[in-house]
Amino acid sequence: MLKDTFTAIRQVYSGQAAKDDVAALARYHRIQASPGFRSAAQYVLRELQNAGLEARIETFPADHQTNFWTSPSFQEWEAVGATLHLVEPADQACKLADYREFKTALIQRSIAFDGEAEVVLLEDGLEEAEYDGLDLADKIVLTKGDVDRVRQLAVEKHGAVGIVFDGMREIPPVRQAMDLPDARQYTSLWWMGDPDEKKCFGFVLSPRQGQWLRELIHRRAKDGLSPVKVRARVDSSLYDGTMEVVTALIPGETDELAVVVAHLCHPQPSANDNASGAAAALEAARTLARLVAQGDLPRPRRGIRFLWLSEMTGSYAYLAGHEEDIPRMVAGINLDMVGEDQAQAGGSFLIERPPDAMSSFAPELLERLREELLDDAPSHTGLAGYPLFRYATTGFSGGSDHYIFSDPTVGVPMPMLIQWPDRFYHTSVDTLDKVDPAMLARAGMLTAAYVFFVANAGSAEATWLAHEMQARFQGHLAKSVQAYVTHMWDSGAPTASRDALELLERRIAYVLARHKVALATLTRLWEGVDPLIHVLGEEAANLVHIALGRGRRAAGDRIRALGADGLSEPPGELDEWERKAATMRPRRLYRGPIALRAAMRKLVPDERAAWRELVTSRRAGGRTLPTLAEYWADGRRSASEIVDLVEMESGVRDAELVVTYFELLHKLGWLDV
Ligand SMILES: [Zn+2]
Repeated sequence: MLKDTFTAIRQVYSGQAAKDDVAALARYHRIQASPGFRSAAQYVLRELQNAGLEARIETFPADHQTNFWTSPSFQEWEAVGATLHLVEPADQACKLADYREFKTALIQRSIAFDGEAEVVLLEDGLEEAEYDGLDLADKIVLTKGDVDRVRQLAVEKHGAVGIVFDGMREIPPVRQAMDLPDARQYTSLWWMGDPDEKKCFGFVLSPRQGQWLRELIHRRAKDGLSPVKVRARVDSSLYDGTMEVVTALIPGETDELAVVVAHLCHPQPSANDNASGAAAALEAARTLARLVAQGDLPRPRRGIRFLWLSEMTGSYAYLAGHEEDIPRMVAGINLDMVGEDQAQAGGSFLIERPPDAMSSFAPELLERLREELLDDAPSHTGLAGYPLFRYATTGFSGGSDHYIFSDPTVGVPMPMLIQWPDRFYHTSVDTLDKVDPAMLARAGMLTAAYVFFVANAGSAEATWLAHEMQARFQGHLAKSVQAYVTHMWDSGAPTASRDALELLERRIAYVLARHKVALATLTRLWEGVDPLIHVLGEEAANLVHIALGRGRRAAGDRIRALGADGLSEPPGELDEWERKAATMRPRRLYRGPIALRAAMRKLVPDERAAWRELVTSRRAGGRTLPTLAEYWADGRRSASEIVDLVEMESGVRDAELVVTYFELLHKLGWLDV
């Protein structure tokens, strides 16, 4: 069932063939809704057809009239050339950026421009106060700040015509300041088509160029010399066009589907992000099609649907255009940045779990299948094997297409395979030499095995997986209890033991509830598994009972050892946000996660700024927690319950953030409370 599938896949799957596809795709400038993206889509289509798959390209309108659920479409964009030259002081004249050399040297979706302008230095340009006393009319600003925010302030409010960006996001510990002095960061503007929107162009410099230019501007200002001027030429256009989704199907015996998603977009070269995921999925499609055609694997019960699309926007478009297919999508997988050479990129091969609001068998199955990859090298004795790559499993954080499929209002449980962190992420140096065919093979074979299992699962597979999930639950339970017990011993305060016990009780009730929901999704694979999952559910409740008993005994031991008896304190006062949460019962009025940036345009700038400030004030999870909360907002749970659930899932209790988010969505008309 597992071994035979893997053995068959290993015979055919080629990491090198996938790397050749990465090389081909990395040549296209694959901006969402652009001629380069279309060419990449046609490449994938040709490869699929050559391999004998049923494949086609679906097109969706790229304009400002169309919406895909809450996500507005956007215009197609093409640039044919762009250069930025320093022209004053004349003795320093040089070329700073050329789109022909680096597609990331231009801020994507820049509008056409031809002219000379003075460059004004901003520190980051994110706060209104920084603009006091600056005359920016018809000038270009130099910034390391978020270009959308700088555009709003410098261009829309203060009349600048363009932006030069020299920032480089740090990704500790693999990318610190000046680690990539000559790379250019992938940077993009997004146009919403609002009548009052002031469009602009922009260029991207490397950190080294930026530092040089900043020093030059400083020095000349200090010496009272004439300002620095550049000549900018951008030959580009925005127009109503199309956005493509490549789809292929390995037909099954029924119309149910297992789904593989990989985003095809991003600038040239973006080899790992995400030519690698697109290529690994392509080779998985070729491999499975061939194995089924040869009879080495049976024709699966369910079909396998492969999708190559624009990240997020393509998922919204495809799902909104195929609502009738959604209930037949049993489970899926998303491939995003899977090909990294770990020694260079610095990251780990991750399974990111779908959100707990969409608990299912899917991440458990994928984790189990990953074990089949862990025997790269034999031990001294030859009796065991070890992996030669780093790997881990992480909780949900979103940021790619699984965030849309795994929304409970869509209902397709979808873990993601990703390598993170990546030293070269979103820069001009995410190039082919950072791609490891062995990692592509691991990701692609795992994808093929997983999706074939989902597609072909019947009574034997569902029964086995139920037992597998129960064993995993048991292990997870034991670890949870022990983590809290250790915490009790680590702290000298008797109240810590009591608090840990209380948290453990909540935690375990949560884990049990999610496990039961996950078990129930096995009926998607085989309805006859129902009696077994009831038996396992009862067994799980007994296991929880025993585990809790052990936790209580440990807490008692610890409290007695510390000499405190019968600890009890009145419960603390609820704060304002917790009280508000108790009175709210949010119900979503839309499908798929909200496309917040677009939705927030209806707010006044102060409200938008207040939300931005609240999110950025959080050390961690400021963007993920609201999404997790949104997933639970089905009209049956109070906001208090949702704050609890988000705390259990993320480890962070933040009633203010959750309640403020719900209030915001309510104000925008997307939520009933
Ligand atoms: Zn990506």
